Amino acid sequence: MNIVNDKVTEYLEGFYKPLSPFLGSMRMQAEENHVPIILKETEDCMRSYLQIIKPNRILEIGTAVGYSSIFFANLLPEVEITSLEVNESMFQTATKNIKDAGLEHRIEVLLGDAVEGLVQLKISREDNNQSPYDLVFIDASKGHYKEFWDGCLPLCKKDAIILSDNVLFKGKTVSDEYVTDRRQRTMVRRMREYMEYITNLAYADTAVLSVGDGLAVSVLRGYHE
Ligand code: SAH
Ligand code: MG
Repeated sequence: MNIVNDKVTEYLEGFYKPLSPFLGSMRMQAEENHVPIILKETEDCMRSYLQIIKPNRILEIGTAVGYSSIFFANLLPEVEITSLEVNESMFQTATKNIKDAGLEHRIEVLLGDAVEGLVQLKISREDNNQSPYDLVFIDASKGHYKEFWDGCLPLCKKDAIILSDNVLFKGKTVSDEYVTDRRQRTMVRRMREYMEYITNLAYADTAVLSVGDGLAVSVLRGYHE
């Protein structure tokens, strides 16, 4: 199910313009190959948020072919990005795309499961005295968002923003009537638990936007470790 009325989505997508020809052709290719990159509506929404927040360092969980990280880097000319990807062939494609975009000095892609990767990243960044992240984009396997959240917190600034994509999961998070595949039940249950978790934290405010496939915008405020 589309979480927003199809006519509304079609109308809003009519306003969409790619940030650059490079990103426009990457989006077309990704859509042809069924690579799940950020939806147009989500991109437009993040385009505003990112320019308001002006992050210096972004941590991304789920690189795929590198579309969203190249988008962030093109939008914010100073930003540095670390992106984690578990799938080897996605990692290879992303690395090539980032090189073709001339962004290898600002986007670092790390291969491996993000839950372990986040632990390693914390150790290596502390060893090298690198500053914490001011924005996190969680966009990987839907059954593990809570682990990603808990893992990225120690890497975040006190007032960081965490964006979680696909939290409404085509309406499945909202109601069982949209869960057609039994194998998705665990994933859906975990996403519901994640929603309860992030909306009830003492140290964060979360607004859930019904844009694209559902985008949670969480603002940390204060001590969270
Ligand atoms: N952010 C990308 C799309 C990411 S799609 C964009 O908008 O352009 C989700 C990606 O997360 C897939 O490539 C998948 O391989 C990766 N992924 C899934 N589980 C993961 C995990 N545990 N650790 C790291 N990456 C993971
Ligand atoms: Mg997504």
